[in-house]
Amino acid sequence: MSSSGLLFVVSAPSGTGKTTVVEQLVKIVPTLEMSRSYTSRPPRSNERDGVDYNFVSRQEFEERIARGDFLEYADVFGNYYGTGKAETEARLASGRDLVLVIDVQGARQVRERRPGTVGIFVLPPSFQVLEHRLRGRSQDPEAAIQRRLATARSEVSAVSEYDYVVINDELDRCVTELRGIVLAERARRDRRANVIVPIAKTFQ
Ligand code: 5GP
Repeated sequence: MSSSGLLFVVSAPSGTGKTTVVEQLVKIVPTLEMSRSYTSRPPRSNERDGVDYNFVSRQEFEERIARGDFLEYADVFGNYYGTGKAETEARLASGRDLVLVIDVQGARQVRERRPGTVGIFVLPPSFQVLEHRLRGRSQDPEAAIQRRLATARSEVSAVSEYDYVVINDELDRCVTELRGIVLAERARRDRRANVIVPIAKTFQ
């Protein structure tokens, strides 16, 4: 897959607030967009199809897997989640940078297929804070909370696979730090060839 835009993957344990953080980030950074995933999970009461996710049936998801429609996909908490390959390619090809908010299994697949991908891991301040947030926000039964906490332990152990780590202790601070990462990645010399060459010519 060749493209001109930059691809970022953001992972974090469920309850860390990564979606909120990335939603804020794309509001303040021009030409940075958030990808919309497909999922076979049913929508929650506050979610809308085509906005929060593209909600599809399990069968449709499996048909899409068979067609090779996904850049990555994973089974998370018993439901499928995946990133559409064609829409990702089209958005990157148009020069926009894209953020995928995906789990660690999906992030591994993306890194393998696109070696230039920038990985960012968002950590909660502690396990105890994560547990408190999960219990506070959700109507989920205890078993579901326990499952998310167990997954969180194994996800945090994958932190060393990522290029950057930010702590979500305070929303604004965390968003500012993420913005710094995006701007720094955009300024890397190897990604600025199209700017360097014309300027360098004026010096000849
Ligand atoms: P939720 O059901 O709470 O919206 O999301 C559950 C988990 O699925 C989160 O860890 C989220 O990052 C992950 N997820 C959301 N979209 C995708 C995706 O497209 N691919 C993968 N691999 N994981 C995703």
